[in-house]
Amino acid sequence: MHFEFSKNFAEISDKSDPLASFRNEFYIPEKNGKQVIYFTGNSLGLQPKNTEKYILQELDDWKALGVEGHVHARRPWMPYHEFLTPYMAEIVGAKNEEVVMMNQLTVNLHLLLVSFYKPTKKKFKIITEGKSFPSDRYALESQIKFHGFDPKDALIEIFPDEGEYIIRHGKILQTIETHKNELALVMMGGVNYYTGQVFNMKEITVAAHRAGAYCGFDLAHAAGNIPLFLNEWEVDFACWCSYKYLNSGPGSVAGAFVHEKHHRNFVLPLFAGWWGTNKSTRFQMLPQFDPIPTAERWQLSNAPIFSMAACLASLEIFHRAGMKNLFEKSTKLTGYLEYVINYVIKEKNKSWQIITPSENRGCQISLLVGEKGKDLFEYLEKNGVMADWREPGVIRLAPVPLYNSFSDIFRFGEILMDYK
Ligand SMILES: *Cc1c(COP(=O)(O)O)cnc(C)c1O
Repeated sequence: MHFEFSKNFAEISDKSDPLASFRNEFYIPEKNGKQVIYFTGNSLGLQPKNTEKYILQELDDWKALGVEGHVHARRPWMPYHEFLTPYMAEIVGAKNEEVVMMNQLTVNLHLLLVSFYKPTKKKFKIITEGKSFPSDRYALESQIKFHGFDPKDALIEIFPDEGEYIIRHGKILQTIETHKNELALVMMGGVNYYTGQVFNMKEITVAAHRAGAYCGFDLAHAAGNIPLFLNEWEVDFACWCSYKYLNSGPGSVAGAFVHEKHHRNFVLPLFAGWWGTNKSTRFQMLPQFDPIPTAERWQLSNAPIFSMAACLASLEIFHRAGMKNLFEKSTKLTGYLEYVINYVIKEKNKSWQIITPSENRGCQISLLVGEKGKDLFEYLEKNGVMADWREPGVIRLAPVPLYNSFSDIFRFGEILMDYK
């Protein structure tokens, strides 16, 4: 791709961007009367202008119908989660039966681990990425203890090599091979939240299966960011949140995926609730659990309609934009940000370093700026750039293809250039 650090280049790129109009479908926060440069869509996606309408409809139907809204709301509450399923399945590359929106991310991770982490004396180890998001590590560690094992023996974390920031793919495959006789599960992020590294989920899954282990991914930083093909890759299970790239609002409802090959395996252990039982007999209130033979069997409770409504408003935008188109733009946009940062580093002779791998990334750039970099971060904040600071010295920047523009990146470059 050819890039230029100029206002003209950025404006021409925005004009020829077929997805440019989607920016108008979002509220962009303002500071001092000016729209900020929002690069934190990987922490909390922006609010679609449509969200209010979707939530108000449910408030209105509740007002007008009371309990009858379960059946008679314009979008009936009883099957409300089903309205989200096809859109969500499209984004993660799954069949509709394999996806369900429910609970929160870490809750889903635990529920899926109940089914897919079944340690035995011989096979009890879990391989995961070092420096994963802490919640995932806590979940894995507590599951290991719950089964009476010691995380010191059972949790195998793969760290980057000395002096490096990313985890080499070969090292992951090698670690799986090394521990294969004792391996029960490979469970890691699809995209590392700190470095933005995208893992080769397809090959990791193959390697895990060859070792006789299950394979699952936390897609918090992958869903709505990079193309996913969970069904084709034969991933056993996955979970993700909807408030990052999926723009569904703070703490909104999360997603879960269970591969179709497990749907009729009723021997899998499962923590059950009434929303996982046969829909046609659910309200006969029978004592016997009659599992739905889809991912819906993992549901416990009836759906949180207001966060589901926010999620639906957002997923409908993804459907119109198309994941393939979004990723195409994302590649250009992130490439441009990389170009602009490296341009400034060179011009100003800075020691900053991009640690996100160019070849394996979505729309996140992690810029290593060192401990004194906090000063740069605060300078950016003061100048209307919303970025994210991570100890000990990384600024994460996420140009999101749905609402960030090439002009955002050019303006960011100008601000960076003016830093002392
Ligand atoms: C954001 C994120 C979480 C957050 O978990 P919640 O249960 O939604 O609070 C967990 N894991 C990863 C990898 C994340 O990026």
